Amino acid sequence: MSKKNRQGHRAHRQRSVDFDYEDFSVQEKRNQEDSNNHSSQKNFQRKSQGRPPGLKGKAIGLYYRDLSRKKKEERGENQSSSRSSGQDRRFFSLPDSTDQTIRRLLMEALEATKSSSDGDNLSMQNRQFRKKFFEIVSGNIQDSLEWAMRMNSVLVNNDTLNNRLKKELEAKKEERAYQQMMTFRYKLPAYKQRNEIIKLMEKHQVILISGETGCGKTTQVCQYILDDAIEKGIGSTVKIVCTQPRRISATSVAERVAAERIENLGDSVGYQIRLEKALCRDYGSILFCTTGVLLRFMQSDPALRDYSHIILDEIHERNSETDFIMTILKQVIHKRSDLKVILMSATLNEKRFSEYYGDCPLIHIPGFTYEVTEYYLEDILKLTKFRFDTAKKVLPTDLTTSHAKVILPSLDKLIREGNYPTYVVHELRNPMVELINLELIRNLIEYICNNKGPGAILVFLPGLRDITQLCELLEESGHFPSNKFDVYPLHSQLPTADQKMIFNPPPVGVRKIIIATSIAETSITIEDVVYVIDCGQMKLSRFDIGLSLEMLKPEWETLANAKQRRGRAGRVQPGECYRLYTRAREATFDEYQTPEMIRTPLERVVLQIKLLQLGRADVFLANVLDPPEEKAIKLAIDLLIDTNALDEDENLTPLGYHLAQLPVDVKTGKMILWASIFSCVEPVFAIAACLSYKDPFYCPRSQKEEANKMKKILGLDQYSDHITFAEALRLFEKARRKSRKNARLFCSKYFLSFNTLELLLKMKKEFAMYMYDMQFLKSANPRDKESNINSRNLSLIKAIICAALCPNVAIVQKQARFPILATPEDGTVKIHPKSINMEAKALPTPYVTFFEKKKSTAIYLHDTTCVTDAALIFAFSNGQLKKLEKRSLLTLRQGFEFLCKQSVGETVKRLQENFNELLAEKFLNPNSINWNSSEGFVLLAIIEFLSVADTNVGITSKRLELESISEDDDDDDKDDDDDDDNTSGSLVIV
Ligand code: ADP
Ligand code: MG
Repeated sequence: MSKKNRQGHRAHRQRSVDFDYEDFSVQEKRNQEDSNNHSSQKNFQRKSQGRPPGLKGKAIGLYYRDLSRKKKEERGENQSSSRSSGQDRRFFSLPDSTDQTIRRLLMEALEATKSSSDGDNLSMQNRQFRKKFFEIVSGNIQDSLEWAMRMNSVLVNNDTLNNRLKKELEAKKEERAYQQMMTFRYKLPAYKQRNEIIKLMEKHQVILISGETGCGKTTQVCQYILDDAIEKGIGSTVKIVCTQPRRISATSVAERVAAERIENLGDSVGYQIRLEKALCRDYGSILFCTTGVLLRFMQSDPALRDYSHIILDEIHERNSETDFIMTILKQVIHKRSDLKVILMSATLNEKRFSEYYGDCPLIHIPGFTYEVTEYYLEDILKLTKFRFDTAKKVLPTDLTTSHAKVILPSLDKLIREGNYPTYVVHELRNPMVELINLELIRNLIEYICNNKGPGAILVFLPGLRDITQLCELLEESGHFPSNKFDVYPLHSQLPTADQKMIFNPPPVGVRKIIIATSIAETSITIEDVVYVIDCGQMKLSRFDIGLSLEMLKPEWETLANAKQRRGRAGRVQPGECYRLYTRAREATFDEYQTPEMIRTPLERVVLQIKLLQLGRADVFLANVLDPPEEKAIKLAIDLLIDTNALDEDENLTPLGYHLAQLPVDVKTGKMILWASIFSCVEPVFAIAACLSYKDPFYCPRSQKEEANKMKKILGLDQYSDHITFAEALRLFEKARRKSRKNARLFCSKYFLSFNTLELLLKMKKEFAMYMYDMQFLKSANPRDKESNINSRNLSLIKAIICAALCPNVAIVQKQARFPILATPEDGTVKIHPKSINMEAKALPTPYVTFFEKKKSTAIYLHDTTCVTDAALIFAFSNGQLKKLEKRSLLTLRQGFEFLCKQSVGETVKRLQENFNELLAEKFLNPNSINWNSSEGFVLLAIIEFLSVADTNVGITSKRLELESISEDDDDDDKDDDDDDDNTSGSLVIV
């Protein structure tokens, strides 16, 4: 008998003894519906034990219905109460031996507590933590600002330094390289207003600078301030921090400014983003950082005493963190009259920002953009003579309706004016004209290259997937040979080295084509662009409060976006902007983008409010430039209370404090903490990285079956997308250790994105660093042995996933061709076709946990893990136990109820109490687990509880070893990432 079979056999035996479905008939019917499926056949055989022979069809169902009724009667249950939620109550049992082991371990835990005096023996670090935590819970921002003001600043006027800085700058001015740079800098529009900016800043605490993109706000204003101070002999008193909404702009701008100063990073110019930093000196310097990093600085230094100037850049983007900082800074400047705040924005609605800061003075830097000729879709169709595919395709109804409402009525006018040939009007009748068509874009690029003068082409597309596809399309066409064209993708994950190439002017006779997300709209300027192609759409994430769902979908851009994009074309000479939508469509565009805080969930914002002691969330948020809805705030607070991150009075709990430190959403944060406590860091951190960043799998349409097959291998028969992620990353890392080439081969074999996995690895390491820093782990290395004692325990890992994602649990309703599920909030939901459980005809457990649900044609669960009853009981750690006459009733939440023996109920209750106590203690005294102490015994008891119950359901636990990968596999780095540079709330931004 093979190992797998043996395990299955054992599971089978245990199950028939220990596991007992309340209502067999439903299960039996399910199995019959799906009788050609292998695993459900196994279930079928298992269930049929003890049934009278010869029963068929409906008779089997009736037999089990009666049997079940009889059993219920025996238990003293009445029918109606057990069906209150529409879900049959299940019977939960533990094998006696397991029950005994758990009891013994809990006993040992108790003994160990008695004999140790750990409690009085707090380490120095723990004391510090407690102090900090209680200060936060009991403090408020006003007091902390007072207190911070009494601290010494590192910025002290020092004449020796002042003189040195002055001499250095004077010497620099003599250098040729510096002079060359200055010649360029003098030409920037911002230069003309240098003195005005400095003067205005001397008089006012807050000023606002607006100006066309590329006029020199980001790279110049900070240098004007610094050099002015140095020239005036007060260089030692100046340290400027300049925030950027994106990582890529913080690093690329820092590089540029250092280059303009003929320096390397680390001297007068530095940057700090979440994974990387190159710090500058403490005085006479400029630090570029992301908004998230500035928020972190404010935790330890709320008055920002180490800085003399705060520049908030790109405030027009309206992302949550920038809006948030604008609100807090209003409080900070009252206390710190010497702090200067410079707000910088593109020319977009800038008056509102000035009003928000009490009508602060506004300087506008006029740009020198050349004329840009605009072409719309109707013109483009005329120029390229492009014809859309006439094959009938099923288009979403909202697309066709919108096309009928907006485009069709506009065609009459078009015909009347007579400027367009009939075929253009004919094409415009096709609703497909409103979809992004990469073929059309390729034709347009070819048209420009064949008919227009030299100059770079910049194409705006919504996400990384379109960018990659267009790059491939250009390459496949053979019309863009590398001796004549430089094609660059530009998005937020581009390695720094590749970014730099984009700015370089191409050799004579070579045309540069840049295919970018909206990142090239305002934060990155490429000098030589003459032609802009704007697809008109961008991907935005929107939170539907009613449904409590986040939706990410492409939307039409706003007029503000369109204007910015067009502006990119006229920087060096008159340019051209090609818009892939009609004039009629443009008339429906909104003027400005909705601020991020209004369209995304607020949990992290609320945690930040608490961490910075800003008081009640609703009061603080009412002061934001565009306050979010009260309902959204309440939803976030309720979720945080549910997670135990806030108490009922909205105070931060120790758990909430730790979650707020982590740059991930609360569910992922909880997963990371639980994994550290249970010492199963590697797989769970891998999963957490995937959830907070992205799924590394891609599925090319033409190779769907092969891709699914390979993914299934990584699934280890666990019915879990999450375990599949962990296994993918584990094997990738293993291959990566051999060689980069090997890792690429592994990726192409398993349809994984190399770039995504590289980033996930980095994140995993970073999580370990955080946990080490917060003292939950002994080592900052995620591969450390002690941090991975239980990393092979798949049932534990799945239970941790479930506990973290809780209350995201769906109940399997029906297993026809595809599983149909339901959640208490949404009713019927479906598993997303990309999930590994979509292929599984019968799911082994009635419960499925998930991270994300999104609504498109239906509500889809994007990633799923089948979880056992025990995992579920563990996950809902605040379950209620009620003693019935003979049994106990365990209610986890509405719709999730179990009957069990009273003794088992007691065991469960005791486990829960012990675990909750352990967590409370651990979060207040962060340190790594001692497996030979009381806490270790409690955790072992839980592991015992989870592991046994898992084999009940017959999921085998195994690990695959990396297969040798044949060298002749395709070495392409297929990358199907679907990034969205617009959703700055995501993890990688900080
Ligand atoms: P703004 O912030 O007003 O949009 P920037 O200060 O970012 O403008 O850029 C000013 C000018 O500096 C740009 O027009 C461009 O010519 C040049 N520039 C900016 N970044 C780079 C870079 N990395 N490499 C070369 N030139 C750059
Ligand atoms: Mg800028």
